[in-house]
Amino acid sequence: ARPIVAIVGRPNVGKSTIFNRIIGERLAIVEDRPGVTRDRIYGTAEWNGKPFSIIDTGGIEIFDEDELLKQVRMQAELAVEEADVILFIADAKAGLTPADETIAQLLFRSNKPIVLGVNKMDNPASTDEIYEFYSLGLGDPVALSGTHGIGVGDLLDELVKRL
Ligand code: GDP
Ligand code: MG
Repeated sequence: ARPIVAIVGRPNVGKSTIFNRIIGERLAIVEDRPGVTRDRIYGTAEWNGKPFSIIDTGGIEIFDEDELLKQVRMQAELAVEEADVILFIADAKAGLTPADETIAQLLFRSNKPIVLGVNKMDNPASTDEIYEFYSLGLGDPVALSGTHGIGVGDLLDELVKRL
């Protein structure tokens, strides 16, 4: 069976945008509004000759900050169980948030390989936003822009190394 990559992160960080980029189709629905419940979406892809399955963990509905954390935690736990490698996405425009830290702790404890992608780095000339994400302790974050297609190859390089 193909190894499984799960994309995890807060609502609205760009998970579905990146998922669509990776599979080369628009299977996942990209939403401006955070908190729209979606089913988990599965796709397949191949990079550097390595095939894998990929899950977009969508269905997070936000009621308030407590509920957000609870839901994010649940999604992350599910993903950790299923996945061989975790793709954790954060948002450079929003910066590092408490929910990101919660997810990072949970992922770290799983002992599964994790690649941290910092999305919405739309301007390659301005990279300062990346530095605070080192504090998550998940290694070197990969800067990318899902909408502009920047850095997705670098992200995939790191991902398939861990398959
Ligand atoms: P998800 O909730 O994590 O799946 O996030 P989505 O993929 O639905 O994206 C949420 C919003 O962020 C949408 O309006 C996207 O167009 C936008 N977005 C996604 N990637 C980028 C990016 O690289 N740069 C910018 N500026 N916006 C992005
Ligand atoms: Mg989504």
